[in-house]
Parts: sequence; C-alpha cells; structure tokens
Amino acid sequence: MIEIDLLVRAEFLYPVSPGLPVIPNGEVAIAGGRILHAGPRQPEGHWAPARTINGSGRAVLPGFVNCHSHAASLVFRSQTDDHAAKAALLEVAFRMEKDITEDEWALLAEAGCADMLQSGITTINDIWYAPHRLADTVEACGLRAQIAHKVFDVRLHELWRGDYTHHPDIGEERLSDGIAFAERWHGAADGRITARIGTHATDTCSAELLRTARAEADRLGIGMHIHAAQSVAEVEQIRAAHGCGPLEFLRDVGMLGPDVVLAHLVFAGTGDLDAVEESGAAYAHCPTIYPRRGRYPPLEDIMARGIPTGFATDWMLNDPFEGMRNALNAMRLRLGSPTALSCAKALELHTIGAARVMGLQDEIGSLEQGKKADLIMVDIDRPHLQPYYGDYAALVYYARASDVVTSIVDGAVVVENGRPTRLDREQTMARIREKVPGWRGKLAALGSRAVFGPGCPCCG
Ligand SMILES: [Zn+2]
Repeated sequence: MIEIDLLVRAEFLYPVSPGLPVIPNGEVAIAGGRILHAGPRQPEGHWAPARTINGSGRAVLPGFVNCHSHAASLVFRSQTDDHAAKAALLEVAFRMEKDITEDEWALLAEAGCADMLQSGITTINDIWYAPHRLADTVEACGLRAQIAHKVFDVRLHELWRGDYTHHPDIGEERLSDGIAFAERWHGAADGRITARIGTHATDTCSAELLRTARAEADRLGIGMHIHAAQSVAEVEQIRAAHGCGPLEFLRDVGMLGPDVVLAHLVFAGTGDLDAVEESGAAYAHCPTIYPRRGRYPPLEDIMARGIPTGFATDWMLNDPFEGMRNALNAMRLRLGSPTALSCAKALELHTIGAARVMGLQDEIGSLEQGKKADLIMVDIDRPHLQPYYGDYAALVYYARASDVVTSIVDGAVVVENGRPTRLDREQTMARIREKVPGWRGKLAALGSRAVFGPGCPCCG
C-alpha cells in the first residue's frame, strides 16, 4: 500500500498528455502536491489515501491555464460590449482606470479570482494595476499566478485625443514599481506566485522604456508580458513613429525572446509574424474578445509557423468553455470548414498549450506523473451533458464553467461543490454592489452604455 494525500477518481479522465486518449475509470493519485499516478484505476488496496474524492459522474482534466488575464477588469462588464474597440479602450476604459483606487482594484480582483477559480481556471498570467493586492488574494485563495505590474510611459487617459507623448518620469516610476513587485513576490506562496515585467503595449511604451524593461527582466531572471498588434490605432501609431509593424518594432528594440508573452496579434502583418517566429516568443490568443470586436486573428497561420500558442480570457469574461467554443466556431467560419480546429486541440490550447506559453509546461497543463497536481472535476450528471460519451467534444462543446464542481491546485482543494473554499464570495459581492452606483455614474460620463434615462440617481 502506498500512502498518498489525495486520490481523485474519474468516470472519464482527460490527461491531455501527448498520445494519451481519454481514460474511462481513471484516477489521479496525489502526494506532496504532485501527481504520483494519472491513468487507469489501480486495484483496490494499491493506495492508502488520506482522502478520496469519488469519481462517479465526474470528468477529470487539468485545470485551465489562462495565459493572458486581467482579474480586476470586470468593472467594465457590459459597459463597452457594443462599442468599437477604440471607443471601448481609449475613451472609456483608459480614462476610467485612473480614477479607480487600489482598494477598489483589490475588491475587483477578489471577485475575478473567485470567478476564475470556480470556472475551472487554476493558473493565470495577469497584467494590471495594484499587483500586490492581486498577489495577496492569489496567495489566500489558492490560485497559481504569474503577475505583472502595468508599465507604460504615456498618459493612458489622453490617448483618446491622439496624444501619445512619452513621459520618462511616468515610465521610470511604473517600471520601478514593477521591479519592486517582482522582487517581493517572485517565487512566493511556495512558488505558486511568480512575476513578469509587464510593459503594457507597443504604443504605450517608448523604445527607451522597452529596452530598460528588457534589461531589468534579464537582471531579475523573469519573463515579460505585453499587448501587441491589438488595435488599428496601435499599428498606425507604431508605423507613423517607427516605420514598421509593432512586432518588428519590439524585435528592433531587442525585447523579443522565448520568455515573452505576446497578447493578441490581431493586426500583425507578415513581417510582424516573421519577427515573432524568429524570436521564439509565445502567443496568448483570447477567443472571446475578438469576435466581440469584429476581427479574428489568423490563429491557423500563427500555429502553422510553430509559434507557441495558448488560449486566454483577456478581460471581463472568464469562462474557458465559452472561449474554446468561440475559437472553434470562429476558425470554422473563417476557413469554411467544420474540421478546422478539433475539440481535442482546443482543450490542449487552454491547458498544456497555455502552460507552454507561460514557460510552465514541465510543471502544469497536463496530468502526468511528477507534475504539480492542478486539476478540476466536472459534473457530467447534468441534463445538458446527456448522454455523456466521454469524448473531447462532450466536454468542449457541451460543458459549461458552472459544471466545474472541484478544483485542486498544488494538491489542495480550492473549489468544492462549485464554490471557492478560501474566499468569502458573498462578502465580496456585497461590497461590489455598494460600489455600482458610483462606478456606473463615472462610466456613463465617459460614454459607456448608459442604461438608465433621465432621473437615474447616478447618471442624471
Ligand atoms: Zn489584455
């Protein structure tokens, strides 16, 4: 008998490891936070577990990896979803962000972490404001996270006027805050929290700032995270200022490399993709936000080049199942082919693929012996999943985030019965509810979708 901490049984086990199919009647044996065995059920008496979780009516798979997130961004939910990208980002979001306090970001991050955990996401790669406060919540709630402070040297709230003036003092202050964050948090919470340098975007950072940030990331031995080719405005700005595409610009300043996560690439040209491919940089693809903004990036071309690619949620919506379905539907529409992207590939892109983007492929992203025990259980005994045949499409095309009942990170149960075990979800939501009138008033003044007409206490 082998003593273990936790035995997780599965009616269907999806290891998402190379060449390994779905295993009926599988199990995962966990000891010391790591996977001792993930495969067919061993004979009774083989394990002596401290705790066993019954697998009847459960599919078990790796926790979803979210390689580009903004946990606290949900303040914008429903306020810019009918807007053009430029209006949503430059006119509403960037002007609102400067008036949100650290305490408010912390509160929003709590809700974002609860949302992601109970949606089956076990790892995030976050770039935002108040990273210390997000790290506090991540440490407490049991998520795994790479976190970066948002570094830029323009006045984000002036971009909507076309003012892209670079202010070195802003860049120096934000970069030094990002460095201080990394020095404090990299490797914290038993290694669950690591840091990146998060230069915000190609048009919001000067060449000097990007070069200094790259040197600091190298000195600290950590990776970088940036938005690139995410909007027409950004591409036009870079072309006007530097005469090249945004990824060519990053290559020319010496920033690109295998430890860089590039979010979006929606408007990347051929020269841009060549630069990414040659550098070994990785790509975070966010399938939910692209259709909403009316333009889907050439995922098939990017993957065909061998650029490491994974799925991510970006902002506001944290449902990985919806993300996988959006990608499948978008690709099939784009290519006019129902076989353009398979369900197995979509699941891979949101687990081991996204782990590879973050440089964590040897530790998480699949259920294999020796890896960290990050896994989730999906309740397959629900009407919308009947009959459950156990293939990839059963999970990817039919399951929902709300079907996730258990999440385990580093071998610890952090979601049980569909609820985070270490966060006071009700208290967080009650505090958010109190903030709604104030936020709605500010957002309406900036041109968000004002819901109420004259007479509304906050919008007039
Ligand atoms: Zn983003």
